[in-house]
Amino acid sequence: MRCPCCDVDAQWRELHRHLADAHADLVRFDFRGDRSYYVVSCPVCAASHEQAIKPRLVDPEFMNEYREEIRLVALDMLLNHVVGEHYASPGDPSPAQPADGGVG
Ligand SMILES: [Zn+2]
Ligand SMILES: [Zn+2]
Repeated sequence: MRCPCCDVDAQWRELHRHLADAHADLVRFDFRGDRSYYVVSCPVCAASHEQAIKPRLVDPEFMNEYREEIRLVALDMLLNHVVGEHYASPGDPSPAQPADGGVG
């Protein structure tokens, strides 16, 4: 599987980790009022998906630690979207995650 942002080619898990390491800015964090949101943008079609983060996670210190986990969840969703929408490869084994994140 090829990275949608660069020439790296890797399996799902490695690519997931690569996105988190090299393309972490695909996931943005937004703070509005008393709620936090994350926004993940597809580098291929520019579709973006916004999701509110649970109110108990707005504590800034906790957020710093939790960001990494949220980022991984968001990037997993993005990977599902990219594979489902932009990589037509019926021969590949399907990942276990359902692609119902609502992206695109
Ligand atoms: Zn890359
Ligand atoms: Zn897309």
